[in-house]
Amino acid sequence: MTDLHRLSIRELAEGLAQAQFSSRELTAHYLKRIEKIDAQVQSYVTVTAEQALAQADAADALRQAGQATVLTGVPIAHKDIFCTQGIRTSAGSKMLDNFISPYDATVVAKGKTAGLVTLGKVNMDEFAMGSTSESSYYGATKNPWALDHVPGGSSGGSAAVVAADLAPFATGTDTGGSIRQPASFCGLTGLKPTYGRVSRFGMIAYASSLDQGGPMARSAEDCAYLMNVMAGHDAKDSTSIEKDVDDYVANLNSTAVKSLRIGIPKQYFNVAGLDAAVKARVEESLKKLEEMGATLVEIDLNMTEAYVPTYYLIAPAEASSNLSRFDGVRYGYRCENPTDILDLYKRSRSEGFGPEVQRRILIGTYALSAGYYDAYYVKAQKVRRLIQQDFLKAFENVDVIAAPSAPTTAYRIGASLDPVEMYLGDIYTIAVNLAGLPAINAPVGFDQDQLPVGLQLIGNYWSESQLLSIVHQYQQNTDWHTKRAAIAEENA
Ligand code: GLN
Repeated sequence: MTDLHRLSIRELAEGLAQAQFSSRELTAHYLKRIEKIDAQVQSYVTVTAEQALAQADAADALRQAGQATVLTGVPIAHKDIFCTQGIRTSAGSKMLDNFISPYDATVVAKGKTAGLVTLGKVNMDEFAMGSTSESSYYGATKNPWALDHVPGGSSGGSAAVVAADLAPFATGTDTGGSIRQPASFCGLTGLKPTYGRVSRFGMIAYASSLDQGGPMARSAEDCAYLMNVMAGHDAKDSTSIEKDVDDYVANLNSTAVKSLRIGIPKQYFNVAGLDAAVKARVEESLKKLEEMGATLVEIDLNMTEAYVPTYYLIAPAEASSNLSRFDGVRYGYRCENPTDILDLYKRSRSEGFGPEVQRRILIGTYALSAGYYDAYYVKAQKVRRLIQQDFLKAFENVDVIAAPSAPTTAYRIGASLDPVEMYLGDIYTIAVNLAGLPAINAPVGFDQDQLPVGLQLIGNYWSESQLLSIVHQYQQNTDWHTKRAAIAEENA
């Protein structure tokens, strides 16, 4: 079989169950593609070929013994922010270039229990700070749709591997849009779950009150399979919620699009910098949902202007605190020949962290320092509450809220946006994290340069099934999610 990489997760599960191919054949097929094609995309930081083949053999043995579950033997790529026992976990940073994790993140452990085969670890912005994946110590990952463009970030590697068919699905994390924006830039489906739905244990922390892991794949159906693996309470993460998990696959047709009320925030479609083609594709997708029976309702989200300043205080503040653990002493990068302990701290951190991470540490430390704490951090927390209330008020009248995932399509590599320009590109995604809500990106067409455009649907708390179900039904009626970049059509 030469086209195993074209199969959906359901088709892979069925093919394995019916012994049309083995996990070893499937895994070897992907490894061959990675070897041939990834030099162009540069999505993998570490390929774990040997271990993947061993996991595949173990999966095949389980199947022989009649002990396989639905995903036993299906390959996956993990964002290099999830700790993997015995395998480097870099978070895209020189600081952790030599870090071999002694344990698995809960998400990785759950993947192993489900029988998933880890192909490797994929690239990301350093410590998940960024929107292009260019801040990675390992260099820029390319957008499979246009190799001179970025795949988005910070989960750019996760998006690129799926869009190039170098993994059937991937894990990502989303602190301020890092699943939804790269999914949008690469023509994929990506779900950011409600805060607390997926365990953060072993997921290297950026901003702990915002971070959430989730699935990235071609379709809502594929994402639902991975959500079934990732979601659930974890005693090792005190912010993970003890609440029953849905069967996201079984629920794919559970929401009636016919009676759905979709909120259209006035303020979102008047944002300066919203690209005309993005606006047009998003509006067309909403028209399609309307044809399918949904009702579009204009709503107000009055706090829109506060999103960027609020997020860019809270996220760096938490980052400065989280990243203080990288001191050159316990693990990670250590400078050469320190003269004393202060020199060791200073040079290890100056040499180990890249410029964007250093910028955030400086901003965050400033916002938290005595004298400024009330004016900045405390104020930002109050505004955060108002942003959440704005959403909750909207959800009294509508079931979901529609928006673009990003104001533009993918940037050119090296477009060298200044930091504020880059931060403004997060306008549509960051409020969702501040409020802790779930949201999904679905591909809805292309701009004039054949770069993908994404629609974002934001749901109320715990509405992951509803979001997946709406997008699934949209995808049953459209074919944007089946479009493939030229490089994905290449055979190994
Ligand atoms: N672009 C945003 C930032 O740089 C979001 C990143 C993320 O979600 N990890 O903070």
